Amino acid sequence: MKIAVIQGDGIGPSVISAAIKVLEAISDKYGFQLDFVMTPAGDKIAEEQGEPLPKDSFLKIRDSDACLKGPIGETARDVIVFLRRELDLYANIRPFKSLPITPKIYRDVDFVVVRENTEDLYKGIEDVGDNYAVAMMIFTRKGCERIAKIAGEMASERKKLVTIVHKSNILDSFKFFKESCMNVLRDFDLKVEDMYVDNAAYQLIVNPMRFDVILTPNMFGDILSDEAAGIIGTLGVCPSANIGDNHGLFEPVHGAAPSIDPRYANPTATILSAAMMLEWLGKRREDRSMIDASREIQSSIESVLNEGRTLTPDMGGNASTMDFAEAIISRILSGN
Ligand code: ATP
Repeated sequence: MKIAVIQGDGIGPSVISAAIKVLEAISDKYGFQLDFVMTPAGDKIAEEQGEPLPKDSFLKIRDSDACLKGPIGETARDVIVFLRRELDLYANIRPFKSLPITPKIYRDVDFVVVRENTEDLYKGIEDVGDNYAVAMMIFTRKGCERIAKIAGEMASERKKLVTIVHKSNILDSFKFFKESCMNVLRDFDLKVEDMYVDNAAYQLIVNPMRFDVILTPNMFGDILSDEAAGIIGTLGVCPSANIGDNHGLFEPVHGAAPSIDPRYANPTATILSAAMMLEWLGKRREDRSMIDASREIQSSIESVLNEGRTLTPDMGGNASTMDFAEAIISRILSGN
């Protein structure tokens, strides 16, 4: 299977090489083959080649079975926003589940942010003049309906609650988003509620345990996800999937974090993104071994975090990125 790899900027190359080491160990153990195809993109490539996503990289990503991506710095818009649009990766799935490093008051958190990934203000249709700036917020019925369907399917397999987040008391465009989503969710056997984004931001802090699937437009989902990462404990442990009907791209929620030493970045978010990738590939190909491999990566991470001896600085320890990856790999090799 061909896996396109974007190493990215800042801490990207460090966390990606940790994830690749874990993927190599798990694929050896479960007997499936992963061929990693390097696809340079980001700030460094923009400096060297004049464009942040060279055509050759784009074509390799498009023609691969899945893409594992590190964070991109200043050129993120030209890389990830472009890829989401060109590959029609309309669903951004971000699971937030308590881990052993999560503060005790948030011990039983388990929700998923399902963020629309291609519309809203992030469509980037703007006009900035000397004395004004305008950006267009775009929602289409198709865009709302297909993301609502994903949220409905996910909630059906979870706690059966969807919370549609919006701000329809201020903008009719959000009313359109809410009602288009409601129309689809009515066909599911679920509890569906809606919530203003300001209240959602508040509820996330005071009672995040109440949520199951949070369905949001693009920009609110971006912001609420970082808030949710704070609840779990650190951005360093939060994975994500960008899914379309034909492509899947998997990346940590965090950015390039240029202010931290890459050798001590937490690779958990990227390793868990790789696990999401295996699960997605396994389901698409009906390959049980990839799904089992994904679960084993997750349980190995939990086991290392539970033990608490090998933690990166953001989790309160002093282990390096590679120390942490090695600890996961030794769990995998020893069967946890
Ligand atoms: P960017 O401009 O690319 O978004 P940023 O530093 O502004 O970078 P993030 O990369 O999302 O934003 O990170 C915010 C902060 O969270 C970082 O400065 C760092 O302290 C912490 N952080 C994020 N990811 C990690 C990680 N993998 N390991 C450790 N700390 C992290």
